[in-house]
Amino acid sequence: MNCPICGKEMEVGYIQSARRVFFTTKKKHVFFVVGKKDIILTDDNFTCPTGPAYNCSYCKKIVIDYKNNENYM
Ligand SMILES: [Zn+2]
Repeated sequence: MNCPICGKEMEVGYIQSARRVFFTTKKKHVFFVVGKKDIILTDDNFTCPTGPAYNCSYCKKIVIDYKNNENYM
């Protein structure tokens, strides 16, 4: 994948966390429950949450492709 900002080839890797990672437009403060409009970016908490990602070390940007993630809402 090429960087959408500078056009250079991006490094293929993964985002990982101890907990499921999701994108939300409404910041959670206490309970991190995935809402209907939230987008899940990794698999669940019991399988070493991991999702594919691309890094542009020049722009310092990470691109996460969730189109093949069947868990997104
Ligand atoms: Zn770039």
